[in-house]
Amino acid sequence: MKKKMKFNTKTIHGGQILDPAYGSVMTPIYQTSTYAQTSPGKHKGYEYSRTHNPTRTNFERSIASLENGNHGLAFSSGLAAIDAIIKTLNPGDEIISTNDLYGGSYRLFKQIFEKYDLKFHFVNMEDIISVKQKITSKTKLIWAETPTNPMMNVVDIKSMSDLAKKNNILLCVDNTFATPYIQRPLELGADIVMHSATKYIAGHSDVVIGALVVNNLALFKKLSFIQNASGATPGPMDCFLTLRGIKTLHLRMQRHSENAEKIAKFLKNHNKITNVYWAGFKDHKNYKIAKNQMHAFGGMVSFIPADQTFETAKKIAEKLKLFTLAESLGGVESLCCHPASMTHASIPPEEREKSGLVESLLRLSVGIEDVEDLIDDLNYAIG
Ligand SMILES: *Cc1c(COP(=O)(O)O)cnc(C)c1O
Repeated sequence: MKKKMKFNTKTIHGGQILDPAYGSVMTPIYQTSTYAQTSPGKHKGYEYSRTHNPTRTNFERSIASLENGNHGLAFSSGLAAIDAIIKTLNPGDEIISTNDLYGGSYRLFKQIFEKYDLKFHFVNMEDIISVKQKITSKTKLIWAETPTNPMMNVVDIKSMSDLAKKNNILLCVDNTFATPYIQRPLELGADIVMHSATKYIAGHSDVVIGALVVNNLALFKKLSFIQNASGATPGPMDCFLTLRGIKTLHLRMQRHSENAEKIAKFLKNHNKITNVYWAGFKDHKNYKIAKNQMHAFGGMVSFIPADQTFETAKKIAEKLKLFTLAESLGGVESLCCHPASMTHASIPPEEREKSGLVESLLRLSVGIEDVEDLIDDLNYAIG
């Protein structure tokens, strides 16, 4: 092969090392904690599975290839991956983050890391000026999530990376919602891409796993040291399942996006629904940026019933049959979530409502079923 692989080929082959032992076409599950040495310190590159494991190596190489980055790192969850990034900072450092943030990230920042004298600012990241205003000589990291969860706001990655570079600040993008099929933040100037690979990357709601991808070797070494020293690494079975999921990432994301578009349009035209949040609408406030940096709009849609009451939202959530009421997202099956009481319950109501996350908001993770059946289910539940 002369040319560089394209994305759909990368999901199958990108970064993969063929099994050197027997030529097994699928990456074997190296279910071992340790590796034989022929003489003290002489081994085949693997000593202990917290540090390295061949199944994990293939997952790390795969996710790096998909994000078009140099180095991948796997963690036992998305939050463990975020935890490793924050541990590269020092007491007194400041972080600027979105005010419309995954609840677990907010909880980790506020309830774990603030007590180590790290300072977090939560701003509206659609507005670059409000980010600029918070930058001081102590600012070391900008934490962006786009599209945001669950309000589907879009952050301009390129402008944010220009601002970060000018001020010598690292930019990390949580790319969980979009996946590299839709957007590749490193190509737009971000320093770190973070994934809750639990979601679309693995794609089948059967594993909890996280990942980081970086280009800079020094940064990789720092993170790799923390990965091993803190020890929040995934097991080989989880890496295998994620690799298996990745092989259909492009097919799944295409269908998730097509189905979500049809559902967003159906909801927008429904007289019992008021706001529908989906970045693909031409009248979405960040449509131009979304169109520029995303190749599709993904599978997530949020909405508010017309009477804007919790009771109606609750009734819809209870009546849905194909959409399972559950936390998480990104699996092949459709899910419905009530963020205020579920995924975002750890964010105080005053903070939540500032970003529009009201009690009546419902969030859909649109699966890859027949979209007519999904619309039928929604139509019945909305009544
Ligand atoms: C789920 C999620 C996380 C946390 O990942 P876990 O794998 O659950 O630890 C972080 N960010 C976003 C956007 C998520 O959806």
